[in-house]
Amino acid sequence: MYQTKAYSAATSTSPLARTAIPRRDPTDHDVVIDILFCGVCHSDIHMVRNEWGVSAYPIVPGHEIVGRVTRVGPAVTKYRPGDLAAVGCLVDSDGTCVHCKDGHEQFCANQVLTYSAPDRHLGGFTYGGYSDSVVVDERFVLRVPTNLDLAGAAPLLCAGITTWSPIRQHGVGPGKKVGVVGIGGLGHMGVKFAHALGAHVVAFTTSPGKLDDALRLGAKEAVVSRNIDEMRKHAGTFDFILDTVSADHDVNAYLHLLAPGGDLTLVGAPPTPLAVSSFALILGRRSLSGSNIGGIPETQQMLDFCGQHGITADVEVIPIQKVNEAYERMLKSDVKYRFSIDMASLKSE
Ligand code: NAP
Ligand code: ZN
Repeated sequence: MYQTKAYSAATSTSPLARTAIPRRDPTDHDVVIDILFCGVCHSDIHMVRNEWGVSAYPIVPGHEIVGRVTRVGPAVTKYRPGDLAAVGCLVDSDGTCVHCKDGHEQFCANQVLTYSAPDRHLGGFTYGGYSDSVVVDERFVLRVPTNLDLAGAAPLLCAGITTWSPIRQHGVGPGKKVGVVGIGGLGHMGVKFAHALGAHVVAFTTSPGKLDDALRLGAKEAVVSRNIDEMRKHAGTFDFILDTVSADHDVNAYLHLLAPGGDLTLVGAPPTPLAVSSFALILGRRSLSGSNIGGIPETQQMLDFCGQHGITADVEVIPIQKVNEAYERMLKSDVKYRFSIDMASLKSE
């Protein structure tokens, strides 16, 4: 066991502050990663503030991790010291259930989340990427294409895979009209992916200041969702809508925009239940579904696609000392479009 620097919150009302946490010495299959960048996901805010009621304290958030391998266990075959490596929301699963065998570790009943989950090695709870280094079984370590900017690649590990997975699952591509609701960290990746796959993308935002950007990110049209007339123009026309909104909102307004048989997938996880009108669903035999991150093989497929197409998140790089301020700004939708923490700022603290 060794100690590493981190930022943690002591309670649901405490700010994040400098601390030291233990990491295990690498076992046979472990990879030790020196963390270079960690993205700031809205789930980090929900978790730090215990908005979903499942958080364990002290909590070290961060599940959009990119870094460099410094050490490997003797049985590790895929990584060597010096390699770029990444870790997302999962660090373990049983590897034997039907879901793991299908490469859908996100459905495994014995999965271990990157932070705030029972730690099978050291006891206590797992600690995330707002830290100097992390030790992870090589099955949960991803390969980062070397042509990508690392600060912008970090958010691919959650915002990227969480939007990629349902977009692929729903056959987004040429000839499909696709809506993305909420142009934040997840939403802006959804726009980029749906555009790169050839769909006609419409961005829905509550922030008029994001309209021009949405077109630059790949949307063909951008709509301020509070404008009822603009919304009506799209009624009954979408094949698929991806809803990334982090707070309570009227999902029925978007269900009405689906064509018959269309699907709206929720990836946003507001802490309070959404009200759903049954008429919005039954009149067009529409579906409302959800999606949770993605499996390890599809995460690698997404990263490889990003390498081939030169896709990264649009990031504002911050030192870790600004993370509490970054949370407040995210709550005001004031980030274009993901904060990425430069971990050199923690090393030098
Ligand atoms: P984010 O960067 O804060 O983006 C959320 C966006 O939602 C905002 O930029 C804003 O977009 C819109 N929004 C915020 N408050 C709103 C309100 N009251 N009404 C309408 N729109 C509002 O957050 P994120 O990191 O993308 O995460 C989004 C959600 O996905 C969070 O709930 C997070 O926990 C969840 N999540 C789920 C998964 C999963 O596996 N399913 C994975 C990661 C994250 P505009 O300014 O464009 O309106
Ligand atoms: Zn996340």
